[in-house]
Amino acid sequence: MSNHALHYIIRFLLGEDISEEIVATIGYTNDVTHFERYSIVIIPSGFFSDPIYGTASSLPQLPLPEIEGTPLLFGSPLMESVGETLVIHADIIASTYFLITRYEEIIQRNVRDEHGRFPGKQSLPYRAGFIHRPIVDEYRLLLRKWLQRYGFRIPDIKKGIRQIYLTHDLDAPTLYRTWKGVIRSIRDKRGILRSIRGKYGALEKDPYYTFPWLFQQDNLLREQVGKEICQTILFIRSGGKTRQDKPHYDLRSKDIEKLLASVYNNDMQIGLHASYQAGLSPDLIKKEKAALEKYTGKSICLNRHHFLSSREPEDMTQLEAAGITDDFTMGYADTSGFRLGTSYPVRWINPVSRRLSSILLHPLTVMDCSLEEKKYMGLNYEEAWAYSLKLTEQVENVGGELTLLWHNSSVQDNPDSYLRKLYNNLLNELTRK
Ligand SMILES: [Zn+2]
Repeated sequence: MSNHALHYIIRFLLGEDISEEIVATIGYTNDVTHFERYSIVIIPSGFFSDPIYGTASSLPQLPLPEIEGTPLLFGSPLMESVGETLVIHADIIASTYFLITRYEEIIQRNVRDEHGRFPGKQSLPYRAGFIHRPIVDEYRLLLRKWLQRYGFRIPDIKKGIRQIYLTHDLDAPTLYRTWKGVIRSIRDKRGILRSIRGKYGALEKDPYYTFPWLFQQDNLLREQVGKEICQTILFIRSGGKTRQDKPHYDLRSKDIEKLLASVYNNDMQIGLHASYQAGLSPDLIKKEKAALEKYTGKSICLNRHHFLSSREPEDMTQLEAAGITDDFTMGYADTSGFRLGTSYPVRWINPVSRRLSSILLHPLTVMDCSLEEKKYMGLNYEEAWAYSLKLTEQVENVGGELTLLWHNSSVQDNPDSYLRKLYNNLLNELTRK
């Protein structure tokens, strides 16, 4: 790992409010003659050493040891004093690196689902039973505690959710308002007259066009907690030719024009919803971003991949090259939780080149369909509510960020789905935080 990346991880673990002098008192070395330079030394477990890094033997073996109740991927829980220095054998640097870089995905290239994504249920955090815990943030609490014990004046982490992102991916703005939609409507036995009215009548009557309700919910929370703390982002697709990129919607249509006007009126942000095809060929991201910028007249720097289908860790390079500064893709579709082991925005480190990038990853905490769909978590309402609250409480405990992804189509009036009710209740709960 480059010194740049190592320094970043130590700084990330400590927190932004910690001075550079204190960061410099943390060492990552097993050279005993250097120990006296530091107040805390973390002993490298060997994860980064040459014959091991990048091979299957570098993967942690289950069950994992724990340090003060937190799972440890590398090293041992042993702590000792050597002279004045506190020596920690828990390699929380390698453990953090492993999680924030998605290292295991480059070791298991053949483990992918039907959409080319690394499955959450195959991931180490899921198999080791801590996908619902941001253990990297738990390391932060530990490290700060150790420094306090050493005598540094370090404030406790401020509990509470420091940032909420309410996000919506525009997969299908409407159900019946294209010619294909009219055919669908007739096939759905809605009658020819009603189907024609569906296309030309009031946009708000379309079952998928739930934005007035969604934005109203979002706004209630934003007004309650403050617009700086709670932001709303609509991710818009502007390309893609695969089957999964259907339905296509025309960014110049009257309906989208109306939607965008409402987005701007509500002081919301827009981002690129990179297509499924761009997930397959990440060099398309630049083109799709340019198209979205052209149609909206806005400069675009936020992204989330459609189907969360950012496939290989290195594909982030293409986002960075396209000028995206913040990505919101990093959650698993098949299980909600902390894919990167953290609830803090974290800069991406390429696990192949070990280079620190400029792109900031915002962990996706909960996606609507992950909870409900049978092929993902398949939870009933009570279970989904309890699990969402559990994740929210975890974020609160470590003072991190919460990102929710709710689709406009999932909050339509539908007796078979609880997602509208869940979103409403979840946002109500957040106003009380
Ligand atoms: Zn999508």
